[in-house]
Amino acid sequence: MIEEIIKILDKESVNWNSPVKEFVKISEKNNFQILVATFLSSRTKDETTIKVLKNLFEFIKTPEDVIKYAHKIERLIYPVGFYKTKAKRLLEIAKILKENYNSKVPDNIKDLISLPGVGRKIANIILYRCYSIPVISVDTHVHRISNRLGFVKTKNPYETEKELEKILDKKWWGRYNEILVAFGQVICKPISPKCDICPVEQLCPKLGVKGRENVYFKRI
Ligand code: SF4
Repeated sequence: MIEEIIKILDKESVNWNSPVKEFVKISEKNNFQILVATFLSSRTKDETTIKVLKNLFEFIKTPEDVIKYAHKIERLIYPVGFYKTKAKRLLEIAKILKENYNSKVPDNIKDLISLPGVGRKIANIILYRCYSIPVISVDTHVHRISNRLGFVKTKNPYETEKELEKILDKKWWGRYNEILVAFGQVICKPISPKCDICPVEQLCPKLGVKGRENVYFKRI
């Protein structure tokens, strides 16, 4: 069932005008810029991050550029969430990459999550987008929708990641995040999901959706 639903959403996603699509496009430059974009997007709306990246990437292409423009970073990344802290951490990351990784973005989760401010969700997105490594990155959209659809019954993103790994074919692991984030931005929103126009409404138990939940839903 999960595969059937993901195939439908993947096909439908070409019609969605979701911010995450533009975000992916604008940050498709090089591995370091993918890291910067993903890092800055944390706890910030994609629309805000996109505006910031358009300007920032005029200056920043490598870790050396971050070091060179250290005095401007805070101003350049405003108004992303926690811009002061992120500016400091971005500079630390740039220095670590220059000194320890020959200015390359690490290609494994252990090294990535050792970078300041880089958690598992960010690291997984980087692994997939920079190196095509199949990993499931779970943010709030992915966690919420996977539970609403009844794919998993989990309390936090880490549990969701581990449960999805058991039931989702590996070929979808990387794409799963992009599809569900776009879906979560335009249809299966956190508050008031648009079930009436949802392409998988007939297949969804709507678990946890107030007033619409179908606990007797039987998978066909
Ligand atoms: S039917 Fe509603 S809750 Fe289920 S996936 Fe669609 S929008 Fe989300």
